[in-house]
Amino acid sequence: MAAEIIDGKAVAAKVRAGVARDVEAWVAAGNPRPGLATILVGDDPASAVYVANKRKACDEVGIADLHQHLPAQTAQAEVAQLIERLGADPIVSGILLQLPVPSHMRGTELTALIPPFKDVDGLTPVSAGLLAQGAPGLRPCTPAGVIELLDHHGVQIEGAEAVVVGRSDLVGKPVAQLLLQRNATVTLAHSRTRDLPGVCSRADILIAAVGVPRLIGADHVKPGAVVIDVGINRTDAGLVGDVDFDAVAGIASMITPVPGGVGPMTIAMLLRNTLTAAELQSR
Ligand code: NAD
Repeated sequence: MAAEIIDGKAVAAKVRAGVARDVEAWVAAGNPRPGLATILVGDDPASAVYVANKRKACDEVGIADLHQHLPAQTAQAEVAQLIERLGADPIVSGILLQLPVPSHMRGTELTALIPPFKDVDGLTPVSAGLLAQGAPGLRPCTPAGVIELLDHHGVQIEGAEAVVVGRSDLVGKPVAQLLLQRNATVTLAHSRTRDLPGVCSRADILIAAVGVPRLIGADHVKPGAVVIDVGINRTDAGLVGDVDFDAVAGIASMITPVPGGVGPMTIAMLLRNTLTAAELQSR
């Protein structure tokens, strides 16, 4: 039987509509409008497009766009000062430093300066620590989007065998921790994993976050598994995921397409995090 296609665009649209409603209710209750300060250093074309999409999404849900653009040759200390100033500014609910920063800068050090309650990307060491401890905090957007997709489709996480392929700080590790927090039995597989097909075939929920086109094939998937493909790979054939969609769609019970699966969830979760950040700061 063909797998149900998980429509990330539709779920993301619902999340965004929910954020728009919640923002208006928040403002109507007398609170200041939430604001997101995106910071772009330089003019990397891909980064400029990502930031433009985030700013447009803010506009659409009523979050104030507090964008900051700095020239590529800006000194590290100057970016650090800007982050500290935004960190102390009450009109700024969330701060997002678009990565990568130009090569003369140390992006990780700059990200770490974002106060945890404004860390809408959920990538600072403090946010990562809170997640590791299962304590409340702002969660990384793409991993949070994966969980939202599973929840939206009624996938039972508690007690499920979940296998995550890829152990990056951006996706693999945090998604594994979120699944663990929801009481899945989690295996984190990576490039040194022996017998990847054997490990993946145990999964009720299989998450691929690797960056290798169509790595996950029919021999990696248990019949009836839910398969979430985080990969976005540019190939001559266009955008493809880490999962061989055509090979797997007949085996899985649910599957995300690429594009149109996990991708649209990232900005939706960023918007939600910005509202959550505003709420955290009002306490
Ligand atoms: P990364 O390169 O930082 O990490 C890749 C991970 O995959 C590593 O942990 C590595 O051990 C593992 N890996 C590499 N080759 C492997 C192999 N042959 N077998 C098993 N594991 C292997 O990448 P990332 O930042 O985590 O991103 C992963 C993918 O997700 C990329 O395609 C990226 O474009 C995509 N991505 C999508 C979104 C989104 O949808 N919004 C967000 C972030 C990343």
